[in-house]
Amino acid sequence: MSILDMVREAGVIGAGGAGFPTHAKLASKAEYILLNGAECEPLLRVDQQLMRMFPDEIIKGFESAGKLVGANKALIGIKGKHKEVISILRNRIEELQVGDFIEVKEIPDIYPAGDEQVLVHELTGRVVPEMGIPISVGCVVVNAETALNIYHASMGVPVTEKYITVAGDIPKRLTVKVPVGTPVIDVLKLSGIENFDDYTVIDGGPMMGPVKSDVDGYVTKKNKGFVILKKDHPLIRKKSVSIEQAKRVNRSSCEQCRMCTDMCPRYLLGHSTQPHKMMRALNYALKNVEEQKIAQLCCQCNLCELFSCPAGLYPKSANLYFKGKLAEQNIKYKPMKSEFTTRKSREYRLVPSKRLIARLGLHDFDRPAPMTEVQVNPEEVHIATRQHVGAPAVPIVNVGDHVELGQQIGKIPEGSLSAAIHASISGTVVECGNDFIVIRRG
Ligand code: SF4
Ligand code: SF4
Repeated sequence: MSILDMVREAGVIGAGGAGFPTHAKLASKAEYILLNGAECEPLLRVDQQLMRMFPDEIIKGFESAGKLVGANKALIGIKGKHKEVISILRNRIEELQVGDFIEVKEIPDIYPAGDEQVLVHELTGRVVPEMGIPISVGCVVVNAETALNIYHASMGVPVTEKYITVAGDIPKRLTVKVPVGTPVIDVLKLSGIENFDDYTVIDGGPMMGPVKSDVDGYVTKKNKGFVILKKDHPLIRKKSVSIEQAKRVNRSSCEQCRMCTDMCPRYLLGHSTQPHKMMRALNYALKNVEEQKIAQLCCQCNLCELFSCPAGLYPKSANLYFKGKLAEQNIKYKPMKSEFTTRKSREYRLVPSKRLIARLGLHDFDRPAPMTEVQVNPEEVHIATRQHVGAPAVPIVNVGDHVELGQQIGKIPEGSLSAAIHASISGTVVECGNDFIVIRRG
């Protein structure tokens, strides 16, 4: 079986949060393969630890990915502040004699360094065009944990576990490996908190992760971290505002200073994203939203809403509002040109992570979350059929079947973009629906 087929069979998807099926990504041809080791979301600590613990596996997985896309060069992007990890990776690249192909490049400690388009620019100097993806400029980007999973796939091992950081205002910060399908509450309780009545959980990083409405749910291959904060933490209050509330506040308070636009990472890359214009447009009862098409260029990094706006308003939400309206009217932005260059002011307007963390009120929680061996042995796992971009996996097991750890239980539907799913524990299938396959241990 080819490596690409092995990656497909192993159900590898983008582990950085996007969940794009990796076999589909690696079917492209590219000049560069880039490893996203930026981990720019504050408090999350998965990738930097994986690169320290499994450098050979990650380098080999990354090399395989690079060969698959036919890349001339493979670049690992990692923040310069992670000196130890950089040194380990450079040593291992030399030892493994892949230095002609793979190189570690240091990137600045800014937010959002891990946004694919920012990473592409920092590593290659190229700018992904508006509405484009990295392949538009000859690049394919894979996350560090994805590279590890590609290596495992090449050894015939499917994705059945997920690394997750548990962080925030909690007694115990840690990073753990748990079976896919584990109840989220089992992971949250590793924080040392038993009763979550006074807490709210962010699913993912504090910048882009949504606030969870409860502590239910099951771990998927996309989870990267849970940030637990007191309910009255300003970040929770800010992130819990509904789009209707945001619209009301936005209308009455925007002073059109355009800081949201001037500091927008996509605007600084040369795109036409201009959230202050979306704020202005909120004041009018517009039937035709054609003019607001630029809202579609927003990547929802949240910088404008959680950092840039001096009035504490919601420009990202204004973008989101118009994105919704544009989708309803089936209007799509069309770029006026295909080549973009960064704005001159970019170098002065990059946002250092430290300042961002302070602004978010997370300084006291910006601590290590060490990788910890824990026994999370859920009695039941709920494995979602859709953990990825594309169509859900189609179950290939039935209620009552006994399955072994690593056995494929859901396949890619014919001709679709999708990813296979596998049993993350050995046991009996007790439910098999369109959304979940439930396995009971034993
Ligand atoms: S949303 Fe905030 S940053 Fe943007 S123009 Fe209005 S006041 Fe200025
Ligand atoms: S969320 Fe705000 S800062 Fe981020 S891309 Fe969108 S408009 Fe720009």
